[in-house]
Amino acid sequence: MNYAEFYKQSVDDPQTFWAKQAELIDWHQPYSQVLDYSNPPFAKWFVGGQTNLCHNAVDRWVAGQGDKPALIAISTETNTEKVYTFAELHTEVQRMAALMQSLGVGKGDRVLIYMPMIAEAAFAMLACARIGAIHSVVFGGFASNSLATRINDAKPKLIVSVDAGSRGGKRVAYKPLLDTAIDLAQHKPGHVLLVDRGLMPMQSVAGRDVDYAALRAQHMDAQVPITWLEANEASYILYTSGTTGKPKGVQRDVGGHAVALTASMKHIYCGNAGETYFSSSDIGWVVGHSYIVYGPLITGMATIMYEGLPFAPDAGIWWSIVEKYKVTRMFTAPTAVRVLKKYPTEFMHKYDLSSLKTLYLAGEPLDETTSQWISSELGVPVIDNYWQTETGWPILTVVKGVEDVPTKLGSPGIPVYGYKVKILNEATGEVCGANEKGVVVIEGPLPPGCMQTVYGDDQRFVKTYWSNFSSEQVYSTFDWGIRDADGYYFILGRTDDVINVAGHRLGTREIEESISSHANVAEVAAVGVEDKLKGQVAIAFVILKNNAGTETPEGRQAMEKEIMSVVDNRLGSLARPARVHFVTMLPKTRSGKLLRRSLQAICEGRDPGDLTTIEDPISLQQIKNVMAV
Ligand code: AMP
Repeated sequence: MNYAEFYKQSVDDPQTFWAKQAELIDWHQPYSQVLDYSNPPFAKWFVGGQTNLCHNAVDRWVAGQGDKPALIAISTETNTEKVYTFAELHTEVQRMAALMQSLGVGKGDRVLIYMPMIAEAAFAMLACARIGAIHSVVFGGFASNSLATRINDAKPKLIVSVDAGSRGGKRVAYKPLLDTAIDLAQHKPGHVLLVDRGLMPMQSVAGRDVDYAALRAQHMDAQVPITWLEANEASYILYTSGTTGKPKGVQRDVGGHAVALTASMKHIYCGNAGETYFSSSDIGWVVGHSYIVYGPLITGMATIMYEGLPFAPDAGIWWSIVEKYKVTRMFTAPTAVRVLKKYPTEFMHKYDLSSLKTLYLAGEPLDETTSQWISSELGVPVIDNYWQTETGWPILTVVKGVEDVPTKLGSPGIPVYGYKVKILNEATGEVCGANEKGVVVIEGPLPPGCMQTVYGDDQRFVKTYWSNFSSEQVYSTFDWGIRDADGYYFILGRTDDVINVAGHRLGTREIEESISSHANVAEVAAVGVEDKLKGQVAIAFVILKNNAGTETPEGRQAMEKEIMSVVDNRLGSLARPARVHFVTMLPKTRSGKLLRRSLQAICEGRDPGDLTTIEDPISLQQIKNVMAV
């Protein structure tokens, strides 16, 4: 079957198509219906079927390849490296599952995981999947306020964390941030399970904190049976930023999720059992869920968990991993490639990279220079994937496992099987013609593996994603795009106030809210501005209540630092604006709406567009002036 036929069947006859894909995983009980779309936009896949993600990722491989590598945990921060076979992973996951159960965690309970890239984080995720608990991994770079918001929303019974992480040799505190977050949150977890890495002393909270090593020692021979789940029960929640200050809990199911990931490993990533997959992302992001933990393991591949920088001890570290573990498929973000491009290529060429077949890049726009450079240096094809936390797996790419469809520079590709993608005119809701810019949308039902709902808030799911066009109910990606005459899509940035820094999504509203918490801030606007390395960075414009010495360059610098540290402490350094500028006016319409797009255009040296509604043009001049300094 060529790709056009494959795709056509997936959208014309999803029942037959997905039934075939569902054969790729183990089912404890067969489903009675492939798709129930009687209550759009809520799609239920594989209704009545019972399965389990941990069984598919771990247990089913133990008999045939129990002695083969499953999880390869490498840390250049602590200089440790450990290979867990499928059998060993099975044992560790059962120990973790047993100790979670001993702490009262059961089916449907939420477990928040706030951990760096260490093996125990994967054990915790898989243990939750095993016993039917719902995990919510929070990226280690987030600080107390971000964490507290997520604790309040997910209401975890248990939080799993560590004393500290490490970045570039510097210890990064986890436990103190977690303690502050729990103090800030209204919801209190029953227990906090702590993996003591010996990196930083910890203050234990009596009755709440428990030590992982001590508890694990009590469950060395644990055998924890799989909790079989109906395909549409929740497997995890992952928070993502949007237009409001409150992140949304993207909720994913069990059955559709397992099928979609397994199918993507076959058709998109062309991975085979026994090979090694290396994704350089972090478990705190969706890539880490889909293509560090579940996707590769579900396919019987070994997966690399790497804690460390891509250029330490030197810029050859990733390539040494590829050589040593004979990595066949690698996944990273364009920003990481741009970082590596600054180093001599000897770091790459001194390793035998002949095992590597393809490099996948995703998470942010892939520029042609970066794509061509890495492809020619590695001598392998580079495949761009476009997708989102919400979908969990690619929406646009070239599906090489089905047919060797050519790629086009600058385009992630064509719609992936299962996704009915189109581009709608923002104002009229009509389908755009070739090369006409519009909003990238997906017709329902979303294919298996995509978000089921916003955790605890079905209405917000419908309102946020499915109510942007009055003409029809479609899922909005909130991305601008065009489709060329050959059917290839090009992504042109977000339609909302979300920015993408180094492949990570941040809401400018969240940044603004944290800056506003500074006692001397009267008003603030944060926008995403183009950056050569990171794709985008946040720039903040602040109106102060009183000048506080900002008349002098030193005073401005001091206040800028102060505001940056507020963001560091509340959200995490990841959200820190690259610059904070001080102004006395922000560009607004006469009705008081901030002219974000104009602000952004000025910062990027572009035409600010239609300004007939602006209240006071001086505000724009001020922005131009501060940007020119
Ligand atoms: P996240 O949910 O954090 O993965 O962010 C998803 C967003 O990142 C998308 O809505 C796009 O704006 C952007 N994005 C992801 N992949 C690509 C890509 N291959 N090309 C362009 N933009 C991308």
